[in-house]
Amino acid sequence: MNIYSKYHVSRVINASGKMTILGGSRVQDKVIEQCGIGAGNFFEVKDLLDKTGEYIANLLDVESSYIVNSASGGIAQAIGAAICQDNYQKIMNLYDPTNNKREVVICKGHNVNYGTAVEVTMRLGGAKVVEAGYANECTLDSIKACINENTVALLYIKSHHCVQKGMPDVQEFIDLAHAYDLPVIVDAAAEGDLKKYYQMGAECVIYSGTKALCGPTSGLIVGKKSYIDLIKKQYAGIGRIMKVGKENIIGLTYAIEEYMNQPQLTIEQQKDRLKEFNHLLNQLDGVQAKCVQDGAGRPIIRSEITFTHQDAKKIAQSLKTGEVHIYTRDYKANLGQIEIDIRDVDDEELMIIYHRIQEILEA
Ligand SMILES: *Cc1c(COP(=O)(O)O)cnc(C)c1O
Repeated sequence: MNIYSKYHVSRVINASGKMTILGGSRVQDKVIEQCGIGAGNFFEVKDLLDKTGEYIANLLDVESSYIVNSASGGIAQAIGAAICQDNYQKIMNLYDPTNNKREVVICKGHNVNYGTAVEVTMRLGGAKVVEAGYANECTLDSIKACINENTVALLYIKSHHCVQKGMPDVQEFIDLAHAYDLPVIVDAAAEGDLKKYYQMGAECVIYSGTKALCGPTSGLIVGKKSYIDLIKKQYAGIGRIMKVGKENIIGLTYAIEEYMNQPQLTIEQQKDRLKEFNHLLNQLDGVQAKCVQDGAGRPIIRSEITFTHQDAKKIAQSLKTGEVHIYTRDYKANLGQIEIDIRDVDDEELMIIYHRIQEILEA
């Protein structure tokens, strides 16, 4: 009996990208094997976290790194660290209402919802959320105006979910924070470049283990040793509630090693994978398919399908509710378009998607 029928759940084809609601990434067998080794043995977990952190830091040529349970958990603990520093009393009383020194500044256009709102995650870390600027515009002056003696950190969200126009770029945001002697936390959950924001000078940069890195459910923090050492202290506080298992510590470390050693598919190779699929779609009446690059500028190529005769929203919905549930990127369905993300779709699944689109259009 397969896993879908055992639990009466639907088979899913994930053409939407690294979506938490679908479980993130498809984890490779080699990584699953390492998770098994982690699960089946004992470790001194703090030591394991320290040593895997050093191992990854060496791979990436950064000062320090630390595995956590998720990017969300990493953001919360990084904020907790800014508020508590290494003060044990503060760590144990993170939400102490008499402590006002907990303001974290974020561009208003970055306070997005990725499944939960960024501000919920910030408050979990103890922050008083201070939004700078407006939804469509955040100048450096509007950030400056938010900084006062209670500010403990600035948070930058690098994501396709964010408003892209009118926002400061990461480097000027970091430079501004440093001019005020404040640390910068970068949420780069779905980004694939593990060095870029660290090299720009951010104190810590947070990645989701199960997005670009194709690891098990986990998170990775990369950053300056002094700051990561403060984050580790949260393990005695909120960190305990969001602990990462030994299986995922070992699994993610291996996934990162694979990720760094395996060349990623080039833009051309990704276009090649989509060639036949787009060609077939373009034969259908009222359908135009072409390759487009990721809206947040990552080196990801997707098929953008425009439906000229039928409602793209309804098509996306029908795809989700067939025998196999097919999830596409439907952020722009209201504009008549859906996108197919093939990072976790194999060639057989790609053909299933094509046939299902054809079937829906003919129905
Ligand atoms: C996915 C995501 C997160 C959360 O990552 P998890 O590992 O699922 O906690 C945080 N921020 C952004 C912008 C994301 O896209």
